[in-house]
Amino acid sequence: MIQFIALIIFLSPLAQAYTFNNNFESRFKDKNVSVSVDELTICPNAGLTVYELNELIQPAVDKFWNRVPTSNLRLKSGGFSIATTNINTGRLCAPTDTTCITTAGATVIAPVDEIIIACNSNALNFGGSNVIAVTIPNHFSGKNIAGAVILINESSTIFSTLSKADKIGVIAHEIGHAIGLGHTKDTSALMYYKTVDQRSALGSDDIRGVSYLYPMQVDGFGLLGGCATIQNNDENPGAKSPFWQMGASLAVMILLIELRKLLKRSQARAAA
Ligand SMILES: [Zn+2]
Repeated sequence: MIQFIALIIFLSPLAQAYTFNNNFESRFKDKNVSVSVDELTICPNAGLTVYELNELIQPAVDKFWNRVPTSNLRLKSGGFSIATTNINTGRLCAPTDTTCITTAGATVIAPVDEIIIACNSNALNFGGSNVIAVTIPNHFSGKNIAGAVILINESSTIFSTLSKADKIGVIAHEIGHAIGLGHTKDTSALMYYKTVDQRSALGSDDIRGVSYLYPMQVDGFGLLGGCATIQNNDENPGAKSPFWQMGASLAVMILLIELRKLLKRSQARAAA
């Protein structure tokens, strides 16, 4: 019976809130992904040298995304990458966002491989001086993400006002977008859109999200982390619920087995 209760808690639809970057649930094909700093970026308003920026990456992946036993994604700092065109001043446009690309013309940031972080002074990327950073996968291979750009808002000094722990939290949140996750309504999650104050670990919603996109294969048990419902970017709860339905029928089966055992036991007692 304990198994049954545990299963119900695990499959509770209230616990499912994570979203994706797009309807294809795009993710990196390779489970080993590097996060690098653009070698020519400069971050005076963000209050960082490029070396200090680089030092935030490894703790951001080790404290958050690399700690999920049900996910096989492993991120690492890739040091400095070759400078990407326009990354310091250009517009960051999704490959399908023709309005952004057309309006920006020649100033669109070139597509990247892996995940690249830079400071960017183009205020149009951020929509406000209180927006700390923005991330867009700007390179796809089919439906898979081939590369993503994380921009720290260099048109404002907001990043410089954060504690080191919160800077690491911001980088970790942005890496969450880079690997394919959207925002969640779960306030305890790193991927909650509003604040990253004092986040020192992933929330259970983040763990389910990354485990869904990058499930750990376990012999004999199939895909761990696959038992989760999903809520897409349109934020339409229950729009896709095959796993929940599967879970529900499994839970009913377990309940029936338990009931049969109880019935057998009482029959045996009655016979005695
Ligand atoms: Zn975000």
